[in-house]
Amino acid sequence: MVKTERELRDDICKIGQLMFQKGWVAANDGNITIRLDAERILATPTGVCKGMMHPDELIIVDMKGNKIQGRAERTSEIAMHLTVYGMRPDIKSVVHAHPPTATGFATAGKSLNLALLPEVVIGLGCVPLADYGLPGTPALTEPMLPLIPKYDAFLMANHGAVCYGEDVYKAYFKMETMEHFARIQLVAELLGGPKVLPREEVDKLLDSRTRYGVKAKSAGEPGCPVALEDTGARSGGGEERFYVTRAELIGLVDEAIKARGIN
Ligand SMILES: [Zn+2]
Repeated sequence: MVKTERELRDDICKIGQLMFQKGWVAANDGNITIRLDAERILATPTGVCKGMMHPDELIIVDMKGNKIQGRAERTSEIAMHLTVYGMRPDIKSVVHAHPPTATGFATAGKSLNLALLPEVVIGLGCVPLADYGLPGTPALTEPMLPLIPKYDAFLMANHGAVCYGEDVYKAYFKMETMEHFARIQLVAELLGGPKVLPREEVDKLLDSRTRYGVKAKSAGEPGCPVALEDTGARSGGGEERFYVTRAELIGLVDEAIKARGIN
């Protein structure tokens, strides 16, 4: 059933509240849009808290980003949404926020590209990192251009994340999966480092997508996600990596030299 514009306005406000409650946006951060038809995009305006919006506050812009309805001003990040709609006719909604753990990875210059959790491999493949670009300028969208056709979610360096889908709920749930994944990976890092799934298991998960009705764009191209074999480690209980301090390494080398009688 096709939703009315009023229902879609309510949906955006509902998703805004969820993002705010989850702490993915501070103050007036983030933005949410829905494609109404071939020419019009329903969008959250600038300068409003996404957790306290009224459906009538939303604005409508055309595909060039010009406001055609509504009192409030458009967001400076609207160009990013329009770029996604322009490149992906299958996408009906774009969600942008600054979820703290995923944004932490983006700020550390790290993507979420490891094959660690089955539902993430199936649903997203992986979450790449777009280089930093000044918000509100074409520099923001430029690094995203190669990523948009291939992925349904990505991180923005030193900024946040963007997810998109066939409706606003699907876009929102991708961001929820991504942020949950980031938290789990962070915990795994604290506990000594995550164990990456081997390629054979990753392929089985990607093959199962049709069974789950998942239409994710990323199809497991090299590096998305990174499987155990891609990390340089061997599967099946091969050599284990270990880490030493600089002083310990020098000590080990000294011992080896002494043992060979070179010194
Ligand atoms: Zn932002």
